[in-house]
Amino acid sequence: MNPQVSYKPSEEVDFVIVGSGAAGGVLAKELSTNGFKVVVLEQGRYIEPTEFGHDEIAVNLEHALTNNAHNSPQTFRATPQDKPIQQLSAIYGRCVGGGTVHFTANFWRFHEIDFIERSRRGAVPGTAFDDWPITYVDLEPYYTKVDWEVGVSGLAGASPFDPPRTKPYPLPPLPVKSSGVIFEQAAWKLGWHPFPAPMAILSRPYRGRAACIHCGRCLGFGCEVGAKSSSLAAMVPVAQATGRCEIRTESYAFRVKTNRHARATGVAYFDRDRRRHFQKARAVILSCNGAETPRLLLLSKSKQFPDGLANSSGIVGKHLMTNGFTGVTAVFEHPLNDYTSAAVSRVVHDFYEIDPKLGFYGGGGMDARFGRTPIGFAVGTPPEVPSWGKQYKKWLAESFAYSMSISCHTTSLPVETNGFTLDPDLKDAWGLPALCMTHQHHPDDVKMMKYLQDRALELLAASPAKQVYAQPIRNQTHAVHLLGTCRMGNDPKRSVINADHRTHDVPNLFLCDGSSFVTSGRGQPTMTIEALAFRAADRITAAAKRGEV
Ligand SMILES: Cc1cc2nc3c(=O)[nH]c(=O)nc-3n(C[C@H](O)[C@H](O)[C@H](O)COP(=O)(O)OP(=O)(O)OC[C@H]3O[C@@H](n4cnc5c(N)ncnc54)[C@H](O)[C@@H]3O)c2cc1C
Repeated sequence: MNPQVSYKPSEEVDFVIVGSGAAGGVLAKELSTNGFKVVVLEQGRYIEPTEFGHDEIAVNLEHALTNNAHNSPQTFRATPQDKPIQQLSAIYGRCVGGGTVHFTANFWRFHEIDFIERSRRGAVPGTAFDDWPITYVDLEPYYTKVDWEVGVSGLAGASPFDPPRTKPYPLPPLPVKSSGVIFEQAAWKLGWHPFPAPMAILSRPYRGRAACIHCGRCLGFGCEVGAKSSSLAAMVPVAQATGRCEIRTESYAFRVKTNRHARATGVAYFDRDRRRHFQKARAVILSCNGAETPRLLLLSKSKQFPDGLANSSGIVGKHLMTNGFTGVTAVFEHPLNDYTSAAVSRVVHDFYEIDPKLGFYGGGGMDARFGRTPIGFAVGTPPEVPSWGKQYKKWLAESFAYSMSISCHTTSLPVETNGFTLDPDLKDAWGLPALCMTHQHHPDDVKMMKYLQDRALELLAASPAKQVYAQPIRNQTHAVHLLGTCRMGNDPKRSVINADHRTHDVPNLFLCDGSSFVTSGRGQPTMTIEALAFRAADRITAAAKRGEV
């Protein structure tokens, strides 16, 4: 770990931030750079980049970088009427840097429509579909800040559907892969507009960090050269270098405490030896993600806040949006060797907004990729392929180096019953109520997934693919995009935080992470999470300077 300041828990710092992921890392860097004393409580470890390896078993089966069922078990049910089953459903990074350490690094901006869709399209029955209290214009300077501060590779103006931007990308796109070339040629035949994928991975050395070495281990793995623009590589070192920010690792927050004036006084947490501490702070920011932020608010209930902290609206934990995800795998006659380099190199946004005449709400984007590891590929055969014996071995030999996928990323609607609650029976390793996830896609979300998958099949029909396997479309029982569970809004009855990320109920408590979303976008939410965090840091700094925190 880099050298850093160390505060005593009894010392009142300006801000305690819980979580060092996409949003927490940005906030820590911005607020400490702005002169504030900051403590970040992170439940996971600090992992030195040199520790990152390519061990699939450690990463995918033993959860070396992510939350695990041993410490933090969860339950799942499709609807509130179902009996929950024990299963790890909400998957997220559990280390310094959070989900940005192991994510694939697709980095799409939201488009203008994502913020104002409710006004444009009208209500969708059975949902809390709403406009954001901010627009793309409000967030654009912060998207640009993300591009330049964390390091994003891409080609400005390459997609006719892109929203306006004030600056080009700081780095050129990563090289096109075989899958990207096939995708691009087929898309052009169909009159679509493929473009180089914007990625939070350095195509060239940038700000003292090395460029991508094309090892092919982005999805699920940490980057050993620091080319992936994670909070760990890009934000945390800058925060620590200010001499004002302490990243306190293996510190598991379990309660935000408040005083009789309904103000937050700090955060209670367990250290790595399970001793309890209380970090005093003038203001508290929760950036634990769309599952753990609502959980911490629900765990912080008190006589004064009997339904959980900042939950006078009753919607903390509700309206979970996960983004729809489906795909198609194709096998070709010649080897593509697509398992090297970043997972994705080309994208299509022609279906970002679909024709309302189709009769359902939705939109999406698709990309060309190979996002599989050898073991992951071997255990993930399409349903049509035998999973043992001679035929299975033949499939492996003739497909691993010869295949690619098209992944389809789509909208989710905010359905009130989808979300996180505290499980009444199951406890985590510290004896605290475990998370229970309830999730069933809205029918429009399923129609949108099917629609985009059909477009992916159309694209592959225009390519020289030998065999094509479509993924079955099922209800999502696992989620990696955890969005909308403490939504932003102007009306305290229908939202948890205001446009400045301040909770409506507790004036010095702020929430900023995936939980702040009002709509889901079309997948790849992390660019927007980070833009929101840069903006929140500006708003919070201004409020603190006015003496309002
Ligand atoms: C395999 C995979 C691939 C992905 N690929 C992409 C992609 O290509 N593009 C994209 O946009 N998104 C991708 N994502 C999603 C992305 O990782 C998340 O959207 C993003 O990291 C969420 O940011 P966040 O700030 O909300 O929370 P996180 O990044 O999850 O950070 C939350 C942090 O808070 C810590 N924490 C939680 N609770 C506590 C507590 N009680 N006490 C102390 N610390 C706590 C956690 O350990 C974690 O470090 C992917 C996710 C997965 C799992």
